[in-house]
Amino acid sequence: MKKNLKKFKNPLSLIIIVIITIALFVSEAGCLFQDRTDSQLKIPDGSMTVSFVDVGQGDCIFARLPNNEIMLVDCGEYSERDAVCDFLDRENVKKIDYLVATHPHVDHMGGMSHIIKKYDIGSFFMPDTESDTNAFIYMLEALDEKNIQSNIVRAGDMIFESDSFRCEVISPVLDSYEETNDFSVVLRLTCGEKSFLLTGDAETYAEKHIKSDVSADVLKVGHHGSITSTSEEFLEKVNPKYAVISCGKDNSYGHPHKEIIDILNKYNIQVYRTDISGTITFFCDGKTVEVID
Ligand SMILES: [Zn+2]
Repeated sequence: MKKNLKKFKNPLSLIIIVIITIALFVSEAGCLFQDRTDSQLKIPDGSMTVSFVDVGQGDCIFARLPNNEIMLVDCGEYSERDAVCDFLDRENVKKIDYLVATHPHVDHMGGMSHIIKKYDIGSFFMPDTESDTNAFIYMLEALDEKNIQSNIVRAGDMIFESDSFRCEVISPVLDSYEETNDFSVVLRLTCGEKSFLLTGDAETYAEKHIKSDVSADVLKVGHHGSITSTSEEFLEKVNPKYAVISCGKDNSYGHPHKEIIDILNKYNIQVYRTDISGTITFFCDGKTVEVID
């Protein structure tokens, strides 16, 4: 004991210990967001991250919720499965608590069978429509093999709900639509005072029938920025600060259409595009929303 006390009486030892302590503290704080590949990534209590994962021409949205549960909305084409798995692995995901296939088009659920087989799945959600594509059939088979129930959702249903965060289904409202896109499961994800509106490929017809509150800070622009979605009337109701367009570089559809970019600019909405920026991640602490690297 006496020896130890003596050791600390040496001013040089004391200075070294103080420097090491400060250095450790600074590096710990600095690591919070810098090293996104760190499997020990933690976000402050009550906060969430939402990533629009770059899957080329398609949609894939990842959310790490305030309770550390994971939601994945769509997963892009089958050819993008490795990109999605790499992202999930970097986030150290073993279980997807809430998996949503917004509608049965392959640019949204092409890789779903792969995801279902590879990860532990909590609950699975989809709209009341189907497709005769192999991707859709394989998705149902994968669910069946793992004995996972398909929860058919419509407006008014909740994916999850707690005191400070929740995810509400606000479309489909009708029993049936002519366009498969209009069956898209539209989600309003809320953390504290802030909301994200995830629209799948819902077109203006589906937008018109939504009765719920659509106001949001971040809008995932419908149908990859196609003119078929995002009417001015709908955009005014959402009134977002940020818009995200998920589309592939030089895609054959010409997405996003100029008219949609023009209208987003008209309302001074800050636009992020996966074809330009790659994966885009938002951090939300319930009071503020910001893009992080
Ligand atoms: Zn699509």
